[in-house]
Amino acid sequence: MSLTVVGSVAFDALETPFGKRDKILGGAATHFSLSSSFFTEVNAVGVVGGDFSDNEWAVFKRHHINTDDIEVVANGKTFFWRGRYDFDMNTAHTLDTQLNVFETFDPKLSEGSKSAKFLFLANILPMLQRQVREQMPSADFVAMDTMNFWITSMKDALIETIKVVDCIIINDAEARQLTDEPNIHKAAKKIMEYGIKAVVIKRGEYGATLFTKDGYFAVPAYPLESVFDPTGAGDTFAGGFMGYLASQGTVTDDTLRRAMIYGSVMASFNVEKFGTLRVDELDYPEITERFKAFKKMTHFEDIPFERASAA
Ligand code: AMP
Repeated sequence: MSLTVVGSVAFDALETPFGKRDKILGGAATHFSLSSSFFTEVNAVGVVGGDFSDNEWAVFKRHHINTDDIEVVANGKTFFWRGRYDFDMNTAHTLDTQLNVFETFDPKLSEGSKSAKFLFLANILPMLQRQVREQMPSADFVAMDTMNFWITSMKDALIETIKVVDCIIINDAEARQLTDEPNIHKAAKKIMEYGIKAVVIKRGEYGATLFTKDGYFAVPAYPLESVFDPTGAGDTFAGGFMGYLASQGTVTDDTLRRAMIYGSVMASFNVEKFGTLRVDELDYPEITERFKAFKKMTHFEDIPFERASAA
């Protein structure tokens, strides 16, 4: 089944302890759609300026992502974000945000994008997220992201949006801030009271946790020794998660758990190189191989739990 995503398409300037890039392709919808394109057909909805060149479009094209709903404002500039990470790469420090054409973004979905049964609302103004959700009343499964800025500045509008989706994928600090609840289990429970079926809490290099009505499932992050750039890891996780679910066409505790593993696998590739570079060059056999390694690594069934009999 196909999947639609709405969110930022951007140029990023990035600095990590391992290097620097001045202007590379980024944005939440970009990272998400690249990741999910390995699993299903993807429609990306966003806006770019006249400075978005053939090189950037080629990345979407290579992965057969439908870009019909990425509007081009020829006399405008693409959204720009500058971020820095120190040795604690779980925390991004925003140095500059230039909204540019994103400031007046008014997502209009074509019939093709609207007909998708799966929808991801990446981190944008909560009212816009709700407006897109309303354009797709027949979507079967809708997930969303958000960020601290919206939680601080418009919590009520954000909660109204949460009430019309099925799943939220946020980090632990955001979950605590949203619910004013330090205990993450209680925070997840409070979010579920808004009518959400699945809450996914991301914890950077420590993995991610899924809460459903009756279930609890945690996946570690894939243990990598070479992490270059965590930008977009959250969106790449969400892309693997939603892409897998859309490929299965059904959302159960079982498919949600497998989606968590695919999300972790995809995020692990994303951080190996700057920006979108690693996921862009990826092929499906590499994903399968890492999925198998991941399953083996987290497989507890072989461990004997019985206590050895006392001598
Ligand atoms: P992540 O690391 O998954 O949280 O997402 C990183 C991506 O989000 C970057 O590629 C940025 O271009 C994009 N981004 C940063 N700030 C914002 C914002 N305020 N609104 C939308 N997208 C953003």
